[in-house]
Amino acid sequence: SNNGKADIALIGLAVMGQNIILNMNDHGFVVCAYNRTVQKVEHFLQNEAKGTNVVGAKSIEEMVSLLKKPRKVMTLVKAGRAVDALIEQLVPLLEAGDIIIDGGNSQYTDTQRRYNELKTKGIYYLGCGVSGGEDGARYGPSLMPGGAAEAWPSLKPIFQSIAAKVGTEPCCDWVGSDGAGHFVKMVHNGIEYGDMQLICEAYHLMKDSLGMSDDEMSSVLKEWNKGELDSFLIEISGDILAYKDSDGQPLLEKIRDAAGQKGTGKWTAISALDFGMPVTLIGEAVFARCLSSLKDERVRASSVLKGPSSAKYTGDKKEFIENIRKALYASKIVSYAQGFMLLREAAKQFNWTLNYGSIALMWRGGCIIRSVFLGNIKSAFDKNPNLESLLLDDFFHSAIDSCQESWRKVVANAVLLGIPTPSFSCALAFYDGYRSSRLPANLIQAQRDYFGAHTYELLSNPGQFIHTNWTGHG
Ligand code: NAP
Repeated sequence: SNNGKADIALIGLAVMGQNIILNMNDHGFVVCAYNRTVQKVEHFLQNEAKGTNVVGAKSIEEMVSLLKKPRKVMTLVKAGRAVDALIEQLVPLLEAGDIIIDGGNSQYTDTQRRYNELKTKGIYYLGCGVSGGEDGARYGPSLMPGGAAEAWPSLKPIFQSIAAKVGTEPCCDWVGSDGAGHFVKMVHNGIEYGDMQLICEAYHLMKDSLGMSDDEMSSVLKEWNKGELDSFLIEISGDILAYKDSDGQPLLEKIRDAAGQKGTGKWTAISALDFGMPVTLIGEAVFARCLSSLKDERVRASSVLKGPSSAKYTGDKKEFIENIRKALYASKIVSYAQGFMLLREAAKQFNWTLNYGSIALMWRGGCIIRSVFLGNIKSAFDKNPNLESLLLDDFFHSAIDSCQESWRKVVANAVLLGIPTPSFSCALAFYDGYRSSRLPANLIQAQRDYFGAHTYELLSNPGQFIHTNWTGHG
């Protein structure tokens, strides 16, 4: 019998898998590489992994035989059927106490199903969110592991050493049971959609209402990146605006304005609807991409449908730019508050004990939404782990206070000028709804009772549902 020498196996030699392997190797772990198309193993060993301690396997059987016990097998393959296919091949080769980790972008419901199936076989199954793209995978991703907690102690040294660090703190900690890791990753991606849309709306306003050049806008973003908006996405957007094509013109302006999507933002919005949580900003960000992708239809509509006669802002430019910055910041606070509401509700439904501060820390570095702002979120949850809403934390509450007037001016002007700002606007509508002790839902209740006898409660007697015959006489 073979004496296992590899600490962990990694299946899937596309870019993410290769980079995670090299990252693990850098940190002193012996990784066994395997891929469905087996030629890629040899190719990887002779090229990217040349001179490392990485070992290869020509079959899943060989791979398993090379592993120390308890065996750890991580998959980084296309989400969906590929993961089930690999689990099916692995299970007969593994024994109770062995560990499978799916590092792909799987839907958390798939992870829950797989976790429950493997639990009956005594195999520890984990779904681990991996963020940070190729570079993150290679030099320090954000890792969000969830599933079988029994497996965490033996994985922790590997995962925390390869993860991004903020100071000395790894952007990787235990999230929760079954699909919690993938759920948190999904919400991360939804928030990423929102953050990107917010920056796009700021860009749209500066470009159309202030007529700014790409270079000017780039300088503004670089300035913003020194303050409370300091983040990876603001930084790269500043770089993008400054980038010139070979003819010296900004490349950005030549790119077709039809956004693509792979689905994780959409899943966040779907979960929000499923859980009945008003995660409006991420929803708007997904819909904004959908609307953008109707490019040809929009081009036809643009010659028919008229807006205001001018989209130009006539007030003070410098002041308006600062107002836009504040609108972005306030909207971003609302978006994260909404994201954490969704996490809280999922935790309630699935009985997860989520540590919101450590989730903020996992997102603080390594991933696409990394920002200084997430450090503030971590502090808010450190101060009060049971914080009902980020909006009620002192720091964020006073941040919104100082942005509020600017935020309203930006949304009002955008409406008057005919420039769409769906995420700025819906964030403000949420804010105004959330801070209302009285909303017009009393009328909805009356309407429902009128046409469907759905009953309603009186303010003076909550919990007791009554019906009125609205067309009869009292
Ligand atoms: P990918 O293009 O999503 O997947 C390619 C890999 O999947 C290849 O190794 C391929 O093997 C394998 N595969 C496909 N179908 C299979 C099957 N039926 N059985 C076994 N293996 C199968 O690769 P990626 O971009 O590196 O991403 C890997 C995972 O990480 C995905 O879930 C992705 O969503 C997630 N992720 C990606 C990023 C990113 O920036 N790219 C960031 C975070 C997370 P063959 O070589 O044999 O085809």
